[in-house]
Amino acid sequence: MENNTKDLKNLDDKDGPDQPDKRFETIIGLETHVELSTQTKMFCGCRLSFGEKPNSNTCPVCLGHPGSLPVVNKKAVEYAMKIALALNCRINKRTIFHRKNYFYPDMSKNYQISQHDLPIGIGGYVEINMGSHTRRIGITRVHMEEDAGKLVHSGATGRISGADYSIGDFNRAGTPLIEIVTEPEIKSPLEAKQYMITLRNILLYLGVSDCNMEEGSLRCDANVSVRLKDSDRLGTRTEIKNLNSFKFIQKALEYEASRHISLINSGKKVIKQTRHYDDKTQSTKVLRSKEEAHDYRYFPDPDLVPIDIDDCWIKKIKDSIPELPNQKEKRYKDKFGLSDYDSSLLSGDFEISDYFEKTLETYNANPKGICNWLMGDFSAFLNKDQISIKESRIKPEHLARLVRLIDEGKISSNTAKSVFKEMYAKGSDPDDIIKEKGLEQISDKGELEAIVEEAVKNNPDAVSQYKAGKVKAIGFIVGQVMQKTKGKANPALVNEIIIKKIS
Ligand code: ADP
Ligand code: MG
Ligand code: ZN
Repeated sequence: MENNTKDLKNLDDKDGPDQPDKRFETIIGLETHVELSTQTKMFCGCRLSFGEKPNSNTCPVCLGHPGSLPVVNKKAVEYAMKIALALNCRINKRTIFHRKNYFYPDMSKNYQISQHDLPIGIGGYVEINMGSHTRRIGITRVHMEEDAGKLVHSGATGRISGADYSIGDFNRAGTPLIEIVTEPEIKSPLEAKQYMITLRNILLYLGVSDCNMEEGSLRCDANVSVRLKDSDRLGTRTEIKNLNSFKFIQKALEYEASRHISLINSGKKVIKQTRHYDDKTQSTKVLRSKEEAHDYRYFPDPDLVPIDIDDCWIKKIKDSIPELPNQKEKRYKDKFGLSDYDSSLLSGDFEISDYFEKTLETYNANPKGICNWLMGDFSAFLNKDQISIKESRIKPEHLARLVRLIDEGKISSNTAKSVFKEMYAKGSDPDDIIKEKGLEQISDKGELEAIVEEAVKNNPDAVSQYKAGKVKAIGFIVGQVMQKTKGKANPALVNEIIIKKIS
């Protein structure tokens, strides 16, 4: 998984290299699909699965057999409400399902059950952090639908073009899918990426999806157009399908926006199209001309009754929503006194804030100390190995213990760095590492006094310099003591003893 926290620092200076031509502005609207992590599918009792034997989790309903009847998964409706409410949407008190008709071999009913003019949630917003400022992105609607199956193309490239044959796997067919559609209000590819990072984080906090982008549980279609800055009409858009990484979203949009500008500057027109982003060539290619709503012959699904949602149900779902990132950010500032920057980075990544809080369960006397490790060495190690904190070997209680050992003067912060390195490599308990390597800090006054005594005797020059007012000269004597103790002496204590001895 890409690590999202490290980019926040640079948001201010990059408005995105999206537009070489400053006369234009870019307008983006995103349609995000998220697969819910319910036990069963949207309209049947089949289990959700990934990577299992093809067609092992199917039944007449999700295979689209004639005469089979769908029944709505209540949990999925509740997850949809949760998402809609967390995105500040109003809930439609009566919501219905439509049939979206089209033919494709991965959808054997020849229609997808979706929502059209009465989606479950409407008119919300998401606030995204752009470093120096926040931007509010309008959410047009949140609707429920079902995922299609998967076609497996057999042949050299695994893509449909050039394949020898294709076979259908319907394990994914009928997986509950939520589509979240933004207003055309996103102003740069970088903002689009930041929106996706923020949205993913909220969804992870809600616990409604694993949001695994590589496995396709979270993916987005990006719509983009450009227009002259003083224009009040939107330009013609193209839509880039199925982007499944933050990096691709930004890159694809940067490419596409400059393609539009080049077309317009050379007197040509942008054609409304659906396109595909290819990271190998870092460019987009046309898939098909853009379909319109009427192409789908939407009509209410006669097999499914409307869902009536009363205030009581809405309240129940509202109450089940956990603390969300922006609330968490505020709590970190108010309760722990963390800076804006630290609070925003910690709360901006679900896995890291979860880890942070687990660490606090073991040791809550120094949240800032723990935060410093998470933002410093820990992130650096994770970034180097390109892994997430969940995949690291260090247990939260061990990080807590490490910080406590420093706070109690049992190890110096320098020693802590090498202990941390070992913890990261092996996942071992800091106490064991310290014992095994004899790293415990010497804080025994008697033991240190003897060593200091000797260092003072052997370095009369430094002593007289100190007495003559050169305070820094003391550092030399501290250095001697550290050398003698192999860095294990408690430096603060050593300092104190030296001053007492020579003044
Ligand atoms: P469709 O399914 O046809 O793509 P939707 O209404 O579901 O239509 O989604 C349209 C998306 O495209 C929305 O996110 C919307 O904000 C965005 N959009 C619409 N017009 C433009 C435009 N001219 N430029 C950029 N984005 C646009
Ligand atoms: Mg679309
Ligand atoms: Zn089924």
